[in-house]
Amino acid sequence: PTDFEIGRDHELPELVVIGLDGHMNDEAGELAGLTQEEAGKRVLAWCEERGQLERTEPYRHSIGRCQRCHTRVEPLIMLQWWCAMEELAAPAIASIREGRVRFTPERFARVCLDWLENVRPWCISRQIWWGHRIPVWYCPDGHITVAETTPDACAECGSTELRQDEDVLDTWFSSALYPFATLGWPERTPELEAFYPGDVLTTARDIIFLWVARMIFAGLELMGTEPFHDAVIHSYLQNPEGRRMSRTLGTGIDPDEVLEPYGADATRYGLLKMASSQDPRFSFGSIEEGRKLAIKLWNVSRLLLQNAEGAEPAERPQALEERWILARLEVGRAELEDCLNRFDFAAAVKLLYRVTFDEFCDWYAEAVKPRLYDGDADARATALAALERLLKLLHIVMPHVTEEIWSRFHEDRLIVAPWPEPDDRYAADAEALDRVQDLARIFRRSSVLVELGGEERRIFDAVVKPGRVKADGNAAAELERLRGEVGRAEKMLANERFVENAPEDVVEAEREKLERYRRELDALSR
Ligand SMILES: [Zn+2]
Ligand SMILES: [Zn+2]
Repeated sequence: PTDFEIGRDHELPELVVIGLDGHMNDEAGELAGLTQEEAGKRVLAWCEERGQLERTEPYRHSIGRCQRCHTRVEPLIMLQWWCAMEELAAPAIASIREGRVRFTPERFARVCLDWLENVRPWCISRQIWWGHRIPVWYCPDGHITVAETTPDACAECGSTELRQDEDVLDTWFSSALYPFATLGWPERTPELEAFYPGDVLTTARDIIFLWVARMIFAGLELMGTEPFHDAVIHSYLQNPEGRRMSRTLGTGIDPDEVLEPYGADATRYGLLKMASSQDPRFSFGSIEEGRKLAIKLWNVSRLLLQNAEGAEPAERPQALEERWILARLEVGRAELEDCLNRFDFAAAVKLLYRVTFDEFCDWYAEAVKPRLYDGDADARATALAALERLLKLLHIVMPHVTEEIWSRFHEDRLIVAPWPEPDDRYAADAEALDRVQDLARIFRRSSVLVELGGEERRIFDAVVKPGRVKADGNAAAELERLRGEVGRAEKMLANERFVENAPEDVVEAEREKLERYRRELDALSR
């Protein structure tokens, strides 16, 4: 390129001495037929023979090499097709600025805008075999005819001897058409009507302008609307040592090595848990957590299904734990939708873990178990209804195990079952087990048992099984300890330097701790 620029500056003739076969052509005179390497040696020898070689010295410069065979790539001067960009870029810029296409994380909107605002003409022709062929035809007189369909005659002289340009369009030109070309465009097919525009595009950050920007302006130009309203730019997962995963470097992780021992659902769960706006490290711990959750879900489902055989799923809650779990599942649904709308997948799986593991399995299922064993028909019907709701929420993260469990008490498929509708009938009981849970934590930690009555007592006994442990804790000492913890947390949060300088999640964790200590203190001293 520098040679080319210098040549241009000095108005030198632009000779092309290398042919498309990679060998020197007739313009190269006696060097014709040689490769670049051979020709280079010959030129050197030619200089030496004539005593015109002053000296040789090594120096560094960069040259292009073929990605596959690593041979040196030589630049050629060739005529190419270019696409003027201003007219195409302007509506795309407006679209992003006005928020008709949103980027997540937001900072990538800037990357896309920067490129569009400084866009240069786009070289759209390529000399390769595969691709959309350039829609240009030539007649023997060299007239150019551009047409959407194969023309019969030259637009200028009427000659019927037409030859189509052999170049194809840049891959990214074809990719820009992807959102509608795949749906039958330019025909107005039912698929195009149904699926254009789409909703969400997700891709990696290094093709934001190669692909995302181009889909936006191609959609606006050819379809009149943006192809999607959200572009989610995901991060790159690094290997556990924090290095880039690469097959050639051997630093990657073979998916089969994860899928085989952990299963597809656990892998999916783990990957979502690792989702981040930064480049996270691959964590087998997250996958393992997914496996544990799948097993826990499987076991609780087996328990409910075995003990509710013959029952039809129906919400007929009679007891506190039933109204509570239906309320918790509803809280979970709302929070989950919020996470998904923000594309915060890590928060979504964290939430699903809490709902499934802590709320559904550890509390609800343990509390309702004795009533299921007793053959309580309402408890059985409600258990299946609650399980249905849980499976629907979990299905998006663990499609296989949830579908399998669903099939044990349904004829139809979970994947086509409707998403749960908002339901505030049990909202009043969403926090109904807070005190019981606080007291359970205190008991497990310090063996201090606080007397409860009624349903709270029944649930506490069923879940915590206090009879198995000697309840000989020192209540006064526990109260003292909690007061100390509350005081410590209050002091920390009153410290402006801590609140302002510590990472947000650390401060948030401290606030949560304080709230929990206060609740426990309250539960214990009531
Ligand atoms: Zn090659
Ligand atoms: Zn012509």
